[in-house]
Amino acid sequence: MNPSKKHQDGDGADKKARSSYFHLPALDVPLAFPQATSATSKFPPCESDYYQLDDLLTLEEQAIRMKVREFVEKEVAPIMAGYWEKAEFPFHVIPKLGVLNIAGGTIKGYGCPGLSITGAAIALAEIARVDASLSSSILVHSSLAMLTIATSGSEAQKQKYLPSLAQLTTMASWALTEPNHGSDASALSTAATKVEGGWILEGQKRWIGNSTFADVLVVMARNTTTKKINAFIVKKDAPGLTATKIENKIGLRMLQNGDILFKKVFVPDEDRLPGFNSFQDTNIPLSVARVMVAWQTIGISIGVYDMCYRYLMERKQFGAPLAAFQITQQKLAQMLGNIQAMNLVGWRLCRMCENGKMSLGQASLGKAWVSARARETVALGRELLGGNGIVTDFLVGKAFCDFEPFHTGEGSYDINNLIAAREITGFASFKPTSSAQQSRL
Ligand SMILES: Cc1cc2nc3c(=O)[nH]c(=O)nc-3n(C[C@H](O)[C@H](O)[C@H](O)COP(=O)(O)OP(=O)(O)OC[C@H]3O[C@@H](n4cnc5c(N)ncnc54)[C@H](O)[C@@H]3O)c2cc1C
Repeated sequence: MNPSKKHQDGDGADKKARSSYFHLPALDVPLAFPQATSATSKFPPCESDYYQLDDLLTLEEQAIRMKVREFVEKEVAPIMAGYWEKAEFPFHVIPKLGVLNIAGGTIKGYGCPGLSITGAAIALAEIARVDASLSSSILVHSSLAMLTIATSGSEAQKQKYLPSLAQLTTMASWALTEPNHGSDASALSTAATKVEGGWILEGQKRWIGNSTFADVLVVMARNTTTKKINAFIVKKDAPGLTATKIENKIGLRMLQNGDILFKKVFVPDEDRLPGFNSFQDTNIPLSVARVMVAWQTIGISIGVYDMCYRYLMERKQFGAPLAAFQITQQKLAQMLGNIQAMNLVGWRLCRMCENGKMSLGQASLGKAWVSARARETVALGRELLGGNGIVTDFLVGKAFCDFEPFHTGEGSYDINNLIAAREITGFASFKPTSSAQQSRL
């Protein structure tokens, strides 16, 4: 997963960036005026499982939850604010994360863990509780790129690519969105033209997570003969491929999002995914990813609640802990209530998905509704911490900023509601048309 020379931040820049990790501010040094314990010096314990979600999980899912929680609290919490500030990716954490055996999530075989949907979702939520960028990097890698290879790839492709992706010794990204096609990704225009022995890709992608360093990119492009969408595995060193890091993000700053240019990129026949023949073939990875994203937003909310709870107990104003005032208690209770409801909806979505009962609309409604509750929860948390609510060391300010991309990504809040509404009414309202022209599905 070393950044390739083809990529704009190049080998030299990457080495420099990696060496500079050791010169990041020492994050375990106490703040001059601490006021309360920061999340980087000691991550707050989990206090939010009020309705005992664990009772709804299998023993294996409970074990995954604890294993991932311990790992991220120990390895990621102390460094997250420094990497976030610098907008750099913590490459050194990835091999350790690989040992946890969660990459590949629900995929069975090929070295993948074969977790339940719930287990995979809980793992991502636990990472997001501490850091949403790292969780998003694994989501793109596992639930989008690896799952697309698993569902649409040939046996040879699965054997070739999945084992090292499962170990996180290689990393993947998933490229659907384009500069001119975000919400209307089905109209994407990156072209795939058949030539002798393979395909030529020409076009642009935007926002692609992990793309500045990923070893393989799963790329959706329009077949110029059939006009349908196909998917291709593109290797990072492919001539004509350039990925440029998107700078100056206000959220998910550790996640490396790239703008990708394909200039006559040759992809051999063996790297076209044979089972991916139309845009409908994004349905499985996108539905699963929406469930996972819903859980990421639950994880973010839980981390924020846990931080707020400890902060309110520790910090005093007017001679009493902040936790003793009615208005702060009301906000805390509202946050806790949201989290219980989000847990239950998220859990139900997972179980429906596991039983093959979840529709695209149900996944979309789940992502939209859960993330709306999470947005409210995170905003309440930011208020509760006062000035420290905008300091990354206290987690909540970082989580507040990290949350915004979740409102938009994996289908925006609006689009996911429209997908659910299309399913329940039969009317697709995405394109502005007069009601007389609206098509019933
Ligand atoms: C941090 C981050 C990571 C991402 N990672 C990836 C990735 O790894 N791979 C990938 O392929 N993509 C990725 N994306 C892209 C993401 O999926 C898109 O941002 C998303 O689909 C929205 O597209 P857009 O940003 O172009 O917004 P637009 O489509 O331009 O939408 C702008 C606004 O208009 C609204 N809107 C659009 N159409 C309609 C309509 N018909 N009716 C009502 N409202 C509408 C939207 O809801 C939104 O509020 C990522 C995005 C972000 C921010």
